[in-house]
Amino acid sequence: MHDGLAILTSGGDSAGMNPAVKCAVDYAAQKGYETHLVYDGLRGLLEDNIVPTTREQVSGIIHRGGTVLRSSRCPQFYDIDQRRKAYENLKRRGIGKLIVIGGDGSFRALNQFYNDFGVPFAGIPATIDNDIAGTDYCLGVDTALNVIRDAVDSIRDTASSFSRAFVIEVMGRHCGYLALTSALACGAEVCLVPELPYNLDTIGARLKHDIAAGRRYVIAVVAEGTKMGDYLTRWINDSIGMEARLTVLGHIQRGGSPTVHDRIMAYKFAVAAVDALDAGQTHSIMIYRDGTYGRLPIHKVADSKYEIDPALLKLAAPLAC
Ligand code: ADP
Repeated sequence: MHDGLAILTSGGDSAGMNPAVKCAVDYAAQKGYETHLVYDGLRGLLEDNIVPTTREQVSGIIHRGGTVLRSSRCPQFYDIDQRRKAYENLKRRGIGKLIVIGGDGSFRALNQFYNDFGVPFAGIPATIDNDIAGTDYCLGVDTALNVIRDAVDSIRDTASSFSRAFVIEVMGRHCGYLALTSALACGAEVCLVPELPYNLDTIGARLKHDIAAGRRYVIAVVAEGTKMGDYLTRWINDSIGMEARLTVLGHIQRGGSPTVHDRIMAYKFAVAAVDALDAGQTHSIMIYRDGTYGRLPIHKVADSKYEIDPALLKLAAPLAC
C-alpha cells in the first residue's frame, strides 16, 4: 500500500492547473495511490483544508481557467511552527507525498517543508510569466499568449482605422517572454523587454522613416518589467508626432480556458510528477527542455535564473532598435 498523495495549486494561478490536477488524480489512482486535494494552496495545508478526492471534485474541470483548488500567498508558511501544523495535518491523514502545481516560490516553500519534515514533493511549473529556470515551458503560457494575440489583433483593427499608435503592456514580471513572443506573433513594430537593449533614437528614426513612406499606425508591445508603457506612449505622441494610447492588458492574461497545448502539457507534467514520486524522487521539478521532458532537483531550479532562448531574442532584436 502506498502513502497517500495530495495535490495542491499554489502561488499565481494559470490556465492548465485544472487539467494537471485532473490527470494527476487519475494517474495516481491508477498507480494505487489514495489521493487527496488541498484547497487554498499552502494556506490549506496549514488550515487542514484537505479532502479525499471524489469524482465530482475533478469532473468537468479541464476546460476551466484558473484553479478549482484555489490558491493563496501564505506568509505564515515561513514560520516553522505553522509548517509543523501542516505536517501534523498530513500525518493524521496518512499523506506522505505532495504534488505542487505553481511557481518557484511554491517550490521553495515545499522544499523547506521537505527539509523540515521529510515529506517528498514533485513540482509542476505553472506561471504565465514563463520565468522558471530549467524549463522552456510553464503551464498557462500558451493560453496567455493566445489571450494577448486576440487583444493585440483587436487593437490593430482600431489602430489601423484611426491611424493611431498603440502601446500594449503585457505581464511577465521581470521576464520579457510574453512580450517578445506576442510581439513577434502579432507583427508589432516595436517591442521593449528587459532582456534586450533598446534604443529610442534608432526606433524613432525607423518609425519616422516608415511613416514618411506611408505607415499609418504603430503597434508597440512592452513588457511590464521595463516600466516603459507610459513613457513610450508619451514619447510616440510627442517625438514621433502620432497620437498614441496605452493599453495595459492586466489580469485578463491570466484567465481563459486552457488551450490544447496547455492541456496536453499539463497531462505530461502530471504523469511525470506522479512517476517521479513513485520512483522515490523527493524534491524534483518537472521540466520540458529542448523538446524533451525531464526533471531537475529543486536547487537547480531555485538557484538559477531563467534565460530566454537566444534565437528568440535575436528574432525580436530588430523591434528594439
Ligand atoms: P509562485 O509559486 O507563483 O512563485 P510565490 O512566490 O508567491 O508564488 O510563492 C508562494 C508561497 O510560497 C508564498 O506565499 C510564500 O509564503 C511561500 N514561500 C516561498 N518561499 C518560501 C520559503 N523559503 N519558505 C517558506 N515558504 C516560502
